[in-house]
Amino acid sequence: MTRKTFDFVVIGAGVFGAWTARELLRCGHSVLLLDAYGPAHSRASSGGESRIIRLGYGRDELYTRWSMRSLDMWKALADCVGQTLFHPTGMLWLSGKEDSYVRQTQQTLETVGVAHQQLSVSELEDKYPQISSTDIKWALWEPDSGVLMARQSVQALVADSIRQGLDYRLASVVPPATSARLDHVTTRAGEKIFAGTFIFACGAWLPKLFPELLAQRIFPTRQEVFFFAPPPGDDAFTSPSMPAWFHHPALVYGVPDLESRGFKISVDKHGPRFDPETGERFPSADGLAIARKYVTQRFPKLRDAPLSESRVCQYENTSNGDFVIDRHPEMVNVVIAGGGSGHGFKHGPAVGEYITHLLAGSGAAEPRFALAGKLTTRMRNVF
Ligand SMILES: Cc1cc2nc3c(=O)[nH]c(=O)nc-3n(C[C@H](O)[C@H](O)[C@H](O)COP(=O)(O)OP(=O)(O)OC[C@H]3O[C@@H](n4cnc5c(N)ncnc54)[C@H](O)[C@@H]3O)c2cc1C
Repeated sequence: MTRKTFDFVVIGAGVFGAWTARELLRCGHSVLLLDAYGPAHSRASSGGESRIIRLGYGRDELYTRWSMRSLDMWKALADCVGQTLFHPTGMLWLSGKEDSYVRQTQQTLETVGVAHQQLSVSELEDKYPQISSTDIKWALWEPDSGVLMARQSVQALVADSIRQGLDYRLASVVPPATSARLDHVTTRAGEKIFAGTFIFACGAWLPKLFPELLAQRIFPTRQEVFFFAPPPGDDAFTSPSMPAWFHHPALVYGVPDLESRGFKISVDKHGPRFDPETGERFPSADGLAIARKYVTQRFPKLRDAPLSESRVCQYENTSNGDFVIDRHPEMVNVVIAGGGSGHGFKHGPAVGEYITHLLAGSGAAEPRFALAGKLTTRMRNVF
């Protein structure tokens, strides 16, 4: 029997792996996508209900441009599969007086030519009477941003890619032994899978696959998400009355009640270290108390709103929040793609495109994504 050798095997069917497989397939390659638990499963970072896609990134033009490109590709995917994967809720940045990050965001949006509007406190109160303006000095409005239905989007992408010729399999890959060139990966069931190039897009599991290289360079943290039930018959917390929002000085963000799942709120501050494989996913009483306190202050109509759902998910942080997308330093045909660092979902399409160009030799490597620049100490500066 002749042995099948794929052009590419992508390990990990989260947003990074699924889009990479899609783009490689689009270029005519034979591609196998593997995941230990299934595309955007409940413990994957990509398995949440919703993820914000905003264009603003402080002074960071790179991520602003990637967001713009990705937004177009997400919309094209939604058209292609005929599903509502993107909700055009807009994005509202709530800013205190000294918030240089939001001011830099405004400047970058201006430079790059992204639609935006500065709102005074009275304009904010007129537009969104359900938001308390306590501590808010001004706001920045991005009309073209919105929210992606995360799990649904990745699953739709994989299903559609399979229709277009992608091979997909449920399989767990064991950590590969270091060699100059990787010939095959082995699954836990003992199967050997051969390919020309292997892309490991394993999110917070990457340190388990490459412990020597990544155990000190990717820091998975525990993050909690809460959904509060809106008042009955009241549309103040659904889109279009309510946008996606980020109160940057407090590092708190939220998503309106989409598809009747509840009003989502979360704290973007990094939680404690977390093991994506063995970690229990009960929300903490402290986390709930912090979320409820914020909701009560910022959205007074939700003061008595009961918690309707909660999730515990993980960020897979690099030292500063820049992604890691690079070749393995010793294995020439192995690429590592991860380090989404709490903001990677929206960029899935651009990540897939970037890796495909890089492997084709038609795109320049971005130094910020290089493994060599990933430190073992944490100094977050990408939000
Ligand atoms: C609470 C929370 C809120 C967030 N909010 C936003 C947001 O609003 N906007 C935004 O843009 N981003 C957001 N993010 C970040 C974003 O979700 C992540 O950056 C992104 O989903 C990472 O995708 P990934 O493909 O790298 O990893 P994952 O989605 O975790 O996928 C990795 C996959 O690899 C598989 N795998 C691992 N090991 C193996 C193995 N040995 N064999 C086979 N398969 C394996 C896993 O099963 C998993 O499916 C948020 C993240 C969290 C946790």
